[in-house]
Amino acid sequence: MRENPQFTDQYDVVIVGAGLSGMYQLIKLRELGLRTRVIEMGSDVGGTWYWNRYPGARFDSESYSYGMSFSEELLEEWDWSEHFSAQPETLRYCQRIAEKFDLKRDIDFDTRVTGARYDETQHIWQVSTSENQLNCRFLVTAVGVFSEPTLPEIDGMDDFQGDSWHTARWPHRAVDFSNKRVAVIGTGATGVQVIQEVAKTADSLTVFQRRPNYCLPLGNKPITELEQVDIKSRYQEIFERCASTTGGFLHAPDSRLALEVSDEEREATFEKLYNTPGFALWLGNFRDCGTDQAANDMVSDFVRRKISERINDPIIASKLIPTDHGFGTRRVPMDSGYYEVYNQDNVRLVDLIETPFRCVTAKGIETTAEDFEFDIIIYATGFDAIVGSFRNMDILGRDGVNLKDYWAEGPITYLGIQAPGFPNLLTLVGPHNASTFCNIPRCIEQNVEWVSDLLAFMYKEGLETVEAASEAAASWVEHSEEMVSMTLIPTTDSWFMNVNQNLPEKKRTFLAYAGGAPRYKQKCDEVAEAGYTGFIFS
Ligand code: NAP
Repeated sequence: MRENPQFTDQYDVVIVGAGLSGMYQLIKLRELGLRTRVIEMGSDVGGTWYWNRYPGARFDSESYSYGMSFSEELLEEWDWSEHFSAQPETLRYCQRIAEKFDLKRDIDFDTRVTGARYDETQHIWQVSTSENQLNCRFLVTAVGVFSEPTLPEIDGMDDFQGDSWHTARWPHRAVDFSNKRVAVIGTGATGVQVIQEVAKTADSLTVFQRRPNYCLPLGNKPITELEQVDIKSRYQEIFERCASTTGGFLHAPDSRLALEVSDEEREATFEKLYNTPGFALWLGNFRDCGTDQAANDMVSDFVRRKISERINDPIIASKLIPTDHGFGTRRVPMDSGYYEVYNQDNVRLVDLIETPFRCVTAKGIETTAEDFEFDIIIYATGFDAIVGSFRNMDILGRDGVNLKDYWAEGPITYLGIQAPGFPNLLTLVGPHNASTFCNIPRCIEQNVEWVSDLLAFMYKEGLETVEAASEAAASWVEHSEEMVSMTLIPTTDSWFMNVNQNLPEKKRTFLAYAGGAPRYKQKCDEVAEAGYTGFIFS
């Protein structure tokens, strides 16, 4: 379909990343006949599911709502074995996509994009990688949300003589914890998953916790043969449901208000949702639980009670129960026996608020109260979320402006897809984009299809460049801020708010789009239908 033979660039499109978004973008651009190259840092496809191979890693959302919907054949042939698939199966799923659509011939693996410079005279991007240089007309980032792991800064970390890994840089081999003294630092969604797995076999497990989170039971089970048949017969309904819910998941908010129902009705609803698998209590709750402090206090209280019932020792329970933020204002970790782990003799909780780290030593960890010896230290300490990959590449737009400097005070984007001053740079799953806050694959499909339509339009019309207008971006940022201000998310710190205490230079600002996936899609569609208003073409 290429109708602009005068272009002198080497590729029409370079895609950064071969996770689900990069792979699907490649498939769509091949359909358009565009010369496309994908650059991937890992040795295989899968993105998040390639890197996060720590024990216990699995979906927190229903497998069948999280797979890609674009290929009926793929939906038909792929059997998810559990309601919440574990990482090895999800990685095999990603590999199956690559194999089925013969994607690997267009992907450079083990190659890191180090930077890109926009050449204003030729209107091309010059992309530098760890291996070579490429030119392209369009640069599409498909770098995922959690791609840049962050480590704490504790004195002596390099002195430790045992094994130590960040969960997102886990070794490609089985790690045996039996007869091992293991430390885990961090109790976010990742820490919770790895802790409950390590506790099964480790000689001893010491969990270093700074702030506790509210965890909910995941309710995972194998998918029976009957369920498999049912799921496959209902895929259209499943995806339609996801398209209609705020988060893009199967769970839709209850239209009732927690503050308006009777105490009995409220308690019964909380109880039912708590016992429903997945994010039900978080995303399927009374609609005021995420927006009204009094309603949020009610559900927070309910979950606190549930946590305390699961832990034998009331002192340990008091350390594991959050009191500094409301339920759901940070990402809710899903658990499979997490709290019960603290009833085991081989598990110990260290509260870092009471006794902070002093240093890491050759043999273990020293806090202000005690010296610990370990064989393994696991850092489940999170990511430079959403913007990390952009902060670790030098993307130079017009006048040599570096994207990371342009975004130093917080991202400025239009629809979460383009930043003014960076023509032909398209950021899938970027900041202010619904993908970063909702069911990621559902939003990936929306994003990729929208970008593909934009490129098809441009090639058809003979347009060389597209750039977000500054005013359009300013009003998108304002709209994003307005959406999140209607929620309780800004009442606490988390990666949602661009806060990572290991990266103090980051400005506190909301990174995602809180208006919901349907509203986000509607806004994107309106822009496209009106001839891509807010974008400047040349
Ligand atoms: P996270 O939510 O940012 O949690 C990082 C943890 O490390 C927090 O408990 C944090 O404590 C602690 N930490 C960081 N630096 C520390 C330090 N210097 N000293 C002590 N503790 C420190 O990161 P994550 O758990 O990797 O999860 C990130 C996101 O990935 C999740 O929110 C979720 O969206 C996604 N995820 C998804 C799944 C899934 O779908 N199945 C699984 C895992 C993760 P503070 O809270 O006190 O800062």
